[in-house]
Amino acid sequence: MGQEKPQYVGRFAPSPTGPLHFGSLVAALASFDDARQHQGRWIVRIEDVDESRTVPGAAAEILRCLAAYGMESDAPVVYQTQRKHLYRAALEALGTHVFACACTRSSPGPCRCGVDGLPPGATARSWKVRADGVRIAFTDRIHGPIEETLSDFVILRADGYFAYQLAVVVDDADQGVTDVVRGEDLLDSTGRQIYLQRLLGYPTPRYMHIPVVRNEHGDKLSKQTHAPPVDPNGDPATLAAARDFLRQLS
Ligand code: GLU
Repeated sequence: MGQEKPQYVGRFAPSPTGPLHFGSLVAALASFDDARQHQGRWIVRIEDVDESRTVPGAAAEILRCLAAYGMESDAPVVYQTQRKHLYRAALEALGTHVFACACTRSSPGPCRCGVDGLPPGATARSWKVRADGVRIAFTDRIHGPIEETLSDFVILRADGYFAYQLAVVVDDADQGVTDVVRGEDLLDSTGRQIYLQRLLGYPTPRYMHIPVVRNEHGDKLSKQTHAPPVDPNGDPATLAAARDFLRQLS
């Protein structure tokens, strides 16, 4: 008997930093439609790991808005703030791949903490994964073969929050995600995520990075570029425009 192929599990993982704008609606729809085309499941995860950026009420607003556009999670929605024990366990499992770092933004020169250990008298501020010079190759469903060379990177931040890179890898594995469909702005995070998956013994999902939606000045639609929220009651013309944007990719 052949091995069963795992059933497709896709996800949308918004950070609750504000209401959905057209760009985030496109990202949600890209993952949702891809899951449906593969007869897969689609789950929503609220990525509130960076609590300093969370806007109160935004998560509920995002979920209501997704539902108004016909997208509802096939599994109970999870919140990263309730999963810190999993990130802690993963950090411990990384063992000697992790080192303490005392550097601040104003530290001169490149970080040497991974090579020399902490400077005398210094205290650990953040925790990093040793990755300097590691090469990761993968194939993106849109971009084709990609190769990245990594540097050491933070997994537990100086402010005490776990880094997105660790949380996303733990959650995708824990939730059995087989397919990540998300914005192209995260393409250069993928190498770090695949490396963490390897160190932790997790499977690597397939990746598809879709072009980000830009405004007339060429800036990515985001809260920082003052992208207006989409109609939270579900506007059919907006949904059609989002599907038109995605159609040009296929
Ligand atoms: N939470 C991330 C964001 O809103 C998305 C992470 C991901 O899809 O891997 O940009």
